[in-house]
This record gives sequence, structure tokens and C-alpha cells, in this order.
Amino acid sequence: MAELRWNPMAKDWVMVISNRAKRPNMPKDYCPFCPGSGKVPEQYTVLKYDNDFPALSMTPAQPDTPMTAGAKGLYDVAPAYGKCEVILFSPEHEGTLYGLSAEHMTKVVDLWCERFAELSSDPEVKYVFIFENRGEEVGVTQPHPHGQIYAYPFLPKKIALEAENAKEYYEQNGRCLFCDMNREEIAFGERVIYENEDFIAYIPFFSEYAYGIMISAKRHKNNLSDFTVRERVNLGDIIQKITGMYDNLFDTRFPYMLCMHNAPVNGEDVRDSYHFHIEMLTPMRAATVQQFRASSESGAWAGCNPSSPEQNAAQMREAMGRFMAGKENK
Ligand SMILES: [Zn+2]
Ligand SMILES: [Zn+2]
Ligand SMILES: [Zn+2]
Repeated sequence: MAELRWNPMAKDWVMVISNRAKRPNMPKDYCPFCPGSGKVPEQYTVLKYDNDFPALSMTPAQPDTPMTAGAKGLYDVAPAYGKCEVILFSPEHEGTLYGLSAEHMTKVVDLWCERFAELSSDPEVKYVFIFENRGEEVGVTQPHPHGQIYAYPFLPKKIALEAENAKEYYEQNGRCLFCDMNREEIAFGERVIYENEDFIAYIPFFSEYAYGIMISAKRHKNNLSDFTVRERVNLGDIIQKITGMYDNLFDTRFPYMLCMHNAPVNGEDVRDSYHFHIEMLTPMRAATVQQFRASSESGAWAGCNPSSPEQNAAQMREAMGRFMAGKENK
């Protein structure tokens, strides 16, 4: 079964994809993403790879879920239309984004841009979500450096909420919410971790995640397609700096979820009010202590940060200093 089911309490779609449970257990030493696997070219630098067991497909089955006649208007189902792609960052089986050369990292960004443009050209696609899950704490068992892209046929709730609130803020103030947040963070300074000419990284004022970071475009840009060549290079730069900093924070492979928030596509015009950013969400609150999203967070959506964003920002600036010093010594 692969279908979307409507949750009328949340007014949101849920992907119900039971066939993914059939994913085979691969032999431990086989990696489909390594050259020589037969699944990828013998040589590549970065690569788009169609997910072998996609949750969303361009040719989805029609849902045939049994329901009573009374379910009409209460429950709804829709085909699981869309696309799931894997983005291979490198042919090397192990490695990190910050370990890539700057040129190689720019190729990753260029591939994201290309896929974003291509997937959003399908009018049935309402959101293109680019992300990377990193670390076993967020369910990753495949060490080969990769991210993913989901092209959804609906606007996911978190993005919808952000877009709606940013639009309201714009209508009330005549300015972009995200541009205003950037301005305030630059003025205050204490939560800023790193910036280059085109992007800034800071712990949000209201962060629920101990080490969560917002990477925001300095100029008002909607999505990847708006970036200049220099902005693409600097987007790669800030992602490398932040992920390198994370691994220097506790001298461990720090897990994270890189969630890229481009503006919604093929829907309401949000050009003035929505603003490109990346949310780096982190499941740890110390080297070996996980910050669970438990009852309050998951059951009531009432977030609780067990630490001070200002103190953690200072700690991350120190880790950034160690990361940069280590690079210079190489
Ligand atoms: Zn591999
Ligand atoms: Zn803006
Ligand atoms: Zn966001």
C-alpha cells in the first residue's frame, strides 16, 4: 500500500507506505552508491539517484482503501504522487560535506539547484524538500555521504505554517519576516555562529533544539533558483563551515538533520514574504545525551530547550575556531 491519508484533525496529509517494509536487507559490505556496485556509474563526482524504494512515485497506484460509505467527508485518500531522489555527495564511501573541496561542494549545490528547478517544473508538485539526515540517531544506517529530495504533491504542514505566518507578517509590516530576523541577529550578535558575504548562521532566538542553527540568505531570495553563482559558492561554504563546526563541538560525528526550506512551488505567490533558509536540527544536547522529542514536544508541540541559545552559540563559535584552525594546519 502506498497512499496519502488525510488527517482531518491536523488538516494534513500523511504518507502511508507499507510496501517500504519490504526493503531487502543488503549484505553488510555492499553499497549501491559506490562505483562498482552496478547501480551507479563507474565515475562520478556528485549524482542524482532515483530512490529504489520510493515513498512517492510519478506513477502511483490508485488507492483502494476499504472505507464505509460514512467515511466520505471525514477521511480521504489520494495517490502517493511525487518523487524521492537520493543525492550522492561523493563517490567515496565515507566522508563528510566539509571534507569535500570547495569546488566539489559547489557541485553538490549546483545539483540541488538543478533538481529543484526540474522537480518544481511539474505543476502537480507543491513542495520540493531537500534534506540530509546524518547519523544513526536520526535513523541513518548507510554511511555513504548522501542527502535526499522529496517532491510532495501537497504543501507540508510546517512549511505551510511558516509561509502563512510570514505572509501575515509581511502584510502587517511591509517587510519580510526572515529579513527582519537576520537584521536583528546581526545587530544583537550573540547568537551568530558564522557568516560570509551571502549567508548567515545563528541559533534562532526561540530555538527548541540545543544546537539547532538557522542558515539564512542575507539578501531576500525565495529559493535556490534565485541564487547567483557567488551565492551558490557561499551556500556551499557556510554548509561546510557549520557541519565542520558540529564535528568539532564534542569531537564526535555530530548527528543532524539538514532541512532546506525553499519557498513553496506551484501555489500561492509568496515571492515577497517567503525567504530561503536552512534549518539544521540536532538530536543531541551534549556529546552523548540525546534531546528526545518526547510527550511535550511530540504530543503537544510545546517545545522545550534545555539550554541557553546564547551560551550554546558562544560554545559553537569556539568550536568553529577549532575547526578553522584545524583546516589551516592541514
Ligand atoms: Zn558506498
Ligand atoms: Zn527576506
Ligand atoms: Zn523554516
